[in-house]
Amino acid sequence: MKQFQFEFSDIEKLKQELDKINQWRKSKDTFTTVFSIYAENTDKETIIAACETLEKEMPDALYLGCTTNGTITEGRLSDSPFVVICTLCEKSSTQVSLLQYNLTEATAIEVIASLKQELIKRPWVKAVELLATIRGMSMTPFCEACTDIDPKIQIFGGGAFNIDLNNDNACVFSKDKGYSEKSVAFLLVGGEDLNVQATHITGWKPLGREFHVTKATGNMLQELDGKPAYDAYFRYLNIPNNEDFFYNTLEFPFFYKHHGINILRAPIASNADGSLTMTSNIEENVYARIAYGDPWTILNSIEEGGREIAKFQPEIIKVFSCAARRTFWGNDEISKETWPFQNIAHTSGFYTSGEFLRMDTELIQHNVTLVVAAFREGNVDESVTFTMAPEKFSGKVSMINRLATFIDAATAELAEANRKLAMMAIADSLTELYNRAETQRRIVKALDEFKQNGRKVSLIMMDIDNFKMVNDTYGHKEGDNVILGLTKIIREVVEGYSSDASCGRWGGEEFMIVLPNTDCSKAAEIANEIRLKFAQQSFPLARRKTVSVGVVEALRGESADMVSVRVDSALYEAKNNGKNQVFIG
Ligand code: GH3
Ligand code: MG
Ligand code: MG
Repeated sequence: MKQFQFEFSDIEKLKQELDKINQWRKSKDTFTTVFSIYAENTDKETIIAACETLEKEMPDALYLGCTTNGTITEGRLSDSPFVVICTLCEKSSTQVSLLQYNLTEATAIEVIASLKQELIKRPWVKAVELLATIRGMSMTPFCEACTDIDPKIQIFGGGAFNIDLNNDNACVFSKDKGYSEKSVAFLLVGGEDLNVQATHITGWKPLGREFHVTKATGNMLQELDGKPAYDAYFRYLNIPNNEDFFYNTLEFPFFYKHHGINILRAPIASNADGSLTMTSNIEENVYARIAYGDPWTILNSIEEGGREIAKFQPEIIKVFSCAARRTFWGNDEISKETWPFQNIAHTSGFYTSGEFLRMDTELIQHNVTLVVAAFREGNVDESVTFTMAPEKFSGKVSMINRLATFIDAATAELAEANRKLAMMAIADSLTELYNRAETQRRIVKALDEFKQNGRKVSLIMMDIDNFKMVNDTYGHKEGDNVILGLTKIIREVVEGYSSDASCGRWGGEEFMIVLPNTDCSKAAEIANEIRLKFAQQSFPLARRKTVSVGVVEALRGESADMVSVRVDSALYEAKNNGKNQVFIG
């Protein structure tokens, strides 16, 4: 593969560049020529004039392009507002094809259906690059529709943008359907000798505690932990709700996992009701954390990603990088994160309004991310070593990274302490079974459900026989051993029968088991199994002990107190009748 990257200033200059390329094409075996064209604004006339010139001077070549928030040529942010990148394939087996469709939320599903048909007609396709106008629409249906595309086909690309972040005007154009402000263009590439590897790099890391996304609709994040989402930015980061909100939160997007894939979502705006408008959809019920970006952490991630890409030994690299990254770094420094790829291969691309990458089978819309697609024709031969020499940062850890580590460790400790406290409130310390108060709550809950769904509820209550004697003869410690021995048997037997049962310690050596969805005969079976297993167990000093058990099934309209009294009476009967037995009340 060979690449020419040049800026477009006027038609004459373009013709000269195309002449040069044509000369080169004559001297070599080149089979397919594709142009990527990136413009910073939607000047329709200039774009169309450039496209017409291309069609005239190189009728066999394909082209596609879009408007951008800045262009990357030879690994750096270009200072030219209009850039042309020409890729020449040198293997006869390499094939490319271009498709363009009208794209709105209403057509998204149809578009992918057509794409699928086109892919079936072209079994050689290995990867699909997409350029799309996505501002102001949800791309979720579009992405979801891609899931059942042949899993071997990689998909990646970027959302068209405008040099002005606040301007929604964008366009996509290609040789297939020309200029459009609502469009998606697909470049299908493949063939025996073409190899493609696409990956994504963020560098942003999650920080501190998790928030539960309790309310979200499309790209509106309404509530976190039941409170207005904006509160999190104010409370934890002291970011005020003013015109700088977008810039201030850029360094702190939300980070969450979707089917094991890390996703970043940045807020675009904070609304009067405390909801946040996000760059794209965020799902309800996920657990999200605020992430932070800092130069050293990001560059370390770039180095890691770069090493992986270098192993693939690409001939050309395409980068789809979020416009938010450009804002984060600023124009003078943004190239630090793309320049290293130029050490591997010719690197070009643009700053997007959203980055797309198919991961496993799902097409994911990312934000604040850098999607890198590496291309190679033929096999790996000479080795490429990856270096990031110009920035001697490797291995450095920033202060913000250290503070983030500190916050994470402290958060994890607090979360563990909270978990223990919550357990202490409901569990018994010796056996870790539910305590009496929690067991009572669970009886009430089971009876409520019984009232609603009519499924029977049974209770088992048991008491160790002649237990006082264990304590008196062998000491309290052996008494505890016996209690723990019975606890273990209760757990094992009950787990084998029911997953929604609750086992509680009712008092000293008294236990209560709440069995929703269980009738009396099943409960008696469970009770008897516990009784038999316990009787077979031998303790170091106390040797064999037994339990007496009462079993009842709740009656309609019975209160928790009433049913507890009845099971207690059943237990009393079991004791009265000679102990070591189950009495059904
Ligand atoms: P019965 O067969 O009629 O149940 O006779 P029992 O000896 O078991 O009599 P009772 O139920 O009155 O005995 C309860 C004893 O359990 C009294 C108390 O000292 C002891 N106990 C209560 N909690 C604990 C504990 O956590 N550990 C130990 N080792 N003993 C406890
Ligand atoms: Mg007892
Ligand atoms: Mg007792």
